[in-house]
Amino acid sequence: MKNTILRTVIIYLILCMAVPAALAEGGNVISLHQEAEAQLEKELGAFEITAMQRELAKTNEAGYSVLDAGRGNPNWINAQTRYAFTRFMNFAIGECELDMSQGSMAGHGKLEGVGERFDAAMNPDDPTDAFLIAAVDYCVNTLGLDKDTLLKELGDAVIGDYYPSPSRCLPCTEAIQNAYLQSTLYNGEDLSAETQIFPTEGGSAAMVYIFEALSHNKLLKAGDQIAIGTPIFTPYMQIPSVKDYGLVSIDVSSTEEDGWDIPEAELVKLEDPAVKAFFLVNPSNPASHALSEKTLKRMELVVEKNPDLIILTDDVYGTFAQDFKTVYAVLPYNTILVYSYSKLYGATGWRVGMIAMNKDNVCDRLLRELPEEDKAFLRSEYAIVTSEPDEMPFLDRVVADSRSIGLYHTSGLSTPSQVFMDMLALSHLIYEAEDPYIKLANDTVRARYTALMNALGLPADESAQNARYYTLVDVLAIASARYGEDFADWLKDSRTEIDFLNDLAGKKGVVLMYGPGFNASEGTVRISLANLYTEDYVEIASRLFELLDEYYTEYETEAVLDAA
Ligand SMILES: *Cc1c(COP(=O)(O)O)cnc(C)c1O
Repeated sequence: MKNTILRTVIIYLILCMAVPAALAEGGNVISLHQEAEAQLEKELGAFEITAMQRELAKTNEAGYSVLDAGRGNPNWINAQTRYAFTRFMNFAIGECELDMSQGSMAGHGKLEGVGERFDAAMNPDDPTDAFLIAAVDYCVNTLGLDKDTLLKELGDAVIGDYYPSPSRCLPCTEAIQNAYLQSTLYNGEDLSAETQIFPTEGGSAAMVYIFEALSHNKLLKAGDQIAIGTPIFTPYMQIPSVKDYGLVSIDVSSTEEDGWDIPEAELVKLEDPAVKAFFLVNPSNPASHALSEKTLKRMELVVEKNPDLIILTDDVYGTFAQDFKTVYAVLPYNTILVYSYSKLYGATGWRVGMIAMNKDNVCDRLLRELPEEDKAFLRSEYAIVTSEPDEMPFLDRVVADSRSIGLYHTSGLSTPSQVFMDMLALSHLIYEAEDPYIKLANDTVRARYTALMNALGLPADESAQNARYYTLVDVLAIASARYGEDFADWLKDSRTEIDFLNDLAGKKGVVLMYGPGFNASEGTVRISLANLYTEDYVEIASRLFELLDEYYTEYETEAVLDAA
């Protein structure tokens, strides 16, 4: 981490020095030396590169307002759940004060009669109270939870007056989260009763915990091959290498020509038993496409050939694709599912996500099949927290490892955060038919995507798999369509992709994200459709054309000079 910051600072200083030098050479564009750039690509993730462009954009030559479509953070939030959380917190504080109240000191909430007191406190004519009433009714009538138990658990949890217990997940929370995953990601498969949940500090923590536990438990060893579905969100790509688990990663690539689905030739790679794990983001980031039904079916065959394969799927964008079905719903035994509320509900600061795993899963079998010496090592590792370390399921080991085992009894996600997750889940679950909030989120990114593609003169991809949270745009293809192939070739030779992005930021105030940083092909940029308003995307297209026009003038001038 420190190294990354240090590198960013160094590169930033190089850039600062390069600017005046380049300007001295006849006001030319900022152009880094090719070698330095190749190094920079290797050393820096796309995120650090974008951070530099953010700086350039602030003082852009045109004096335009900054349009930053580099971020995945949405520009919306879900308001209802924030109101509901606050309201429920107030109710729970009242419950504590019933027990004891002296100055600012109050007691604990009580189980007896909490359901009746909740009914008496809620006003059905108030929209927030009406939501809470509907949410509790859903838990009682549909999930079969006991009303008093539910309200006591949620009350204690929102107050946060006990350690999370069980550490992995509060019982009512687990039932609610299971119902949410089933409704949004399984596409009709019924897996909620057989799925266990570990709420985490967002999807990022989930990934780190899983990799840590896979490595610690010898399920992934130095030299093992892991396959990664590319192009992929950069920090994730760096987990296996940067964290130094000594894993060898192979790419399982998708391209625009294949509709960003994984083609047969790539899927075959997974059949090799030397490939121990497959890690994918579905729908993907940056391409923002879900796997097709056909590919999901094909993956069943993959697992028949490679039954020990551990699949790790990050489905944070699942609710943005139509008729989405997670790999977990097809291969529950082999798949670890990660979900995060960050994007759909505008909750990146809350740090709320989860790991879901089947009670019957490949990791537990692989633990049983480990060589005796590994088992002996793990027995001694987990003996400090359980009397039967051999029997400890993999997911519980993930929980223990998240606090270096020793502090297992204080592990688990903060209880108020678990309540917030429940509010989010229930804001969806109370609708029997279509959830209007999820529809609105989808319509929102769709409108932005359509406006952008129209303005760029590119065909819109209307496939059900297109989640439209981001889009990858090929700048060279746009240049070729607008001015012809010769110009596109010239541009490719005279500007690197980072030159182009620096110009777009420094001259036009537009920040986009570096495509090759995601393993996408040279010339592509990622545009986030989540963080600006529809009209801003039209403006981005227009500024991009302005820059291409300036390049074209330069190209023509050079052509005249060459001819002379
Ligand atoms: C944004 C994003 C997440 C969310 O991460 P959090 O840590 O939950 O905020 C997860 N996975 C991918 C691929 C993402 O792009």
